[in-house]
Amino acid sequence: MPEAYDMGENVNQEKRFSVAIQRYKDPEAKDKMNPFAEQEAWEEHQIGKSKLQFGSKDRKRSSDDYQYVFEDSIDFVKSSVIEGTQPEYNSDQEDIDAKDILKRELQDERKTLPIYKFRDELLKAVEEYQVIVIVGETGSGKTTQIPQYLHEAGYTAKGKVACTQPRRVAAMSVSARVSQEMGVKLGHEVGYSIRFEDCTSEKTIIKYMTDGMLLREFLGEPDLASYSVVMVDEAHERTLSTDILFGLVKDISRFRPDLKLLISSATLDAEKFSDYFDSAPIFKIPGRRYPVEIHYTKAPEADYIDAAIVTVLQIHVTQPPGDILVFLTGQEEIETVDEILKHRTRGLGTKISELIICPIYANLPTELQAKIFEPTPEGARKVVLATNIAETSLTIDGIKYVIDPGFCKIKSYNPRTGMESLLINPISKASANQRAGRSGRTGPGKCFRLYTSYNYMHDLEDNTVPEIQRTNLANVVLTLKSLGIHDLVNFDFMDPPPSEALLKALEQLFALSALNSRGELTKTGRRMAEFPLDPMLSKMIVASEKYKCSDEVISIASMLSIGNSIFYRPKDKQVHADNARLNFHTGNVGDHIALLNVYSSWKETDYSTQWCYENYIQVRSMKRARDIRDQLEGLMERVEIEICSNASDLDAIKKAITSGFFHHSARLQRDGTYKTVKNPQTVHIHPSSGLAEIRPRWVVYHELVLTTKEFMRQVTELKPEWLVEIAPHYYQLKD
Ligand code: ADP
Ligand code: MG
Repeated sequence: MPEAYDMGENVNQEKRFSVAIQRYKDPEAKDKMNPFAEQEAWEEHQIGKSKLQFGSKDRKRSSDDYQYVFEDSIDFVKSSVIEGTQPEYNSDQEDIDAKDILKRELQDERKTLPIYKFRDELLKAVEEYQVIVIVGETGSGKTTQIPQYLHEAGYTAKGKVACTQPRRVAAMSVSARVSQEMGVKLGHEVGYSIRFEDCTSEKTIIKYMTDGMLLREFLGEPDLASYSVVMVDEAHERTLSTDILFGLVKDISRFRPDLKLLISSATLDAEKFSDYFDSAPIFKIPGRRYPVEIHYTKAPEADYIDAAIVTVLQIHVTQPPGDILVFLTGQEEIETVDEILKHRTRGLGTKISELIICPIYANLPTELQAKIFEPTPEGARKVVLATNIAETSLTIDGIKYVIDPGFCKIKSYNPRTGMESLLINPISKASANQRAGRSGRTGPGKCFRLYTSYNYMHDLEDNTVPEIQRTNLANVVLTLKSLGIHDLVNFDFMDPPPSEALLKALEQLFALSALNSRGELTKTGRRMAEFPLDPMLSKMIVASEKYKCSDEVISIASMLSIGNSIFYRPKDKQVHADNARLNFHTGNVGDHIALLNVYSSWKETDYSTQWCYENYIQVRSMKRARDIRDQLEGLMERVEIEICSNASDLDAIKKAITSGFFHHSARLQRDGTYKTVKNPQTVHIHPSSGLAEIRPRWVVYHELVLTTKEFMRQVTELKPEWLVEIAPHYYQLKD
């Protein structure tokens, strides 16, 4: 990508971006926030309002006021300009049925996308070649248009068109857009499929799906016979599933000459894809991009969250109209920035114009996600708080300013200890340039990097390491084994994983009895592969048959799959919330059983929203858990495990949990810390755990999170003899 950007040339055009606004007089705004803010935010969340509007609708702005509004500011240095390419508009005027105005407008819009001019050429190339690599700037129309072109050209008459996305949100959002453009109901001709959510039907001919879901489809249909085209989109992201898909689709393309493969990417380094796919031709879609000014901070910023907030406000009061896109690392950060921005702009009345805050992250309810695409009302400014999803997967129109703190969450894995953690890491140069590019889609843009140009040049790697080289492979190995691929070492990986990580995965699956000593899939392994879950969770479920508590265990598995958003703790009612939460822990049953108690109590109230409210529990999370549970129940039927309940025998339930998670066991030390049993490491019980004060001698945990320390989250007490009983081959040498 660097060649397109030519970073060096304009470095001397130094121009200070210095502003007259000041940081809001409240040094510890994070803590001293309006005590009701969180409760209000929650209530707004409850009633499904996502647009938080501040200030006044009065558009009049007088610059003198700004000094009185905020007190602190950040100095930026304009360092370079990313050259743009001249926009070209297509002025095709066609007669389209005037009845359906929206549809016509959408059809017109389709023709303004850069890809439109290459439609016929592209279709010709698809006809001629089996595999094509497509490269084009984000927003050029690859994801939304190509599947439609293929449909218009008749490919859907021979089978479905699949288009894979690395992210759930992108699959949902893009399919919604395409169904609109085609004037059909989402889930009919155009649908999406993501884990635990299948929005497709018999009619579906264009199917957007996560790369992980297509991977799972190989289990039921190893030659993908029902598809005529597979488009592996956002290939540059190199997610684990995308990398595995590469190997699988390349393989089936050899015995299915009728299957068309499109590999599409937003970055220019397409040669690697082309080489991998036996020199497949590269189809380049010249993008349309306006110049983007890059501003760096003069000095490193200690707190990028605070710096991002100040920069948003700085832009809001000093820069001409245009929306802002802020890249943050995850839901928690997004929520924090959302709250603080809300707080700082509250009560400013006519001093500033309206600022519409739009968060977007994977767990945000679908209907709220759509809001980021709504046009900004005149006189207002939208600020989109997004994760990496907005880097290339989603194009949001109207963005003129990008704020890039330079970080993202990256999974890293230590094959020696088998520990996996999500850590906040600096992004790569390639990512930084993608992010900057998001501001120059509809006009000249500006990108504010919250780091120095020295940091950019010297501290950022050129590219992100593919996920396959930094993750636990147990899940993938199980999937490949169940596809009958035994020789993993010689699997055609684009970039092979470290052999240590492969071995570790095999070892783990063997310990879980998913593989036998010859590395072949066992009956347990075959059953586990049916569940779209981490092997430890699926083992826990399969083991529940033996302990006759499958009903309870699938509830626990569903609750664990929701993540961390079950309990709600408003700042002004923390004591109430904590008491409500402790109720579920009565008898120090441990966090897993507490989750089960939450689910069962909710079920007893006939899934009451009021009950959730009274118990400080997020009703949305519960509904999602219920959804997931329904699907797990369906899968239980498939693997022929009867649903039976054994709620009074907590030890049975805990044994089932241990059957899946014995790798995650830890023993209390004299100093009050814990040591993991297999690869001794010092860990602690997370303060949110019901067992944090109790400190049982032996525990099994769901996951490790590294914040200030290595914390075990979701912890349950364990009897050491269970380890030997449940995993004798793993623990036989232990005391
Ligand atoms: P690419 O895949 O090449 O990055 P897309 O096909 O995703 O491009 O986007 C093409 C256009 O469609 C963009 O202008 C984008 O704004 C618009 N678009 C995509 N998804 C949506 C949506 N959910 N709502 C509104 N517009 C959308
Ligand atoms: Mg795309």
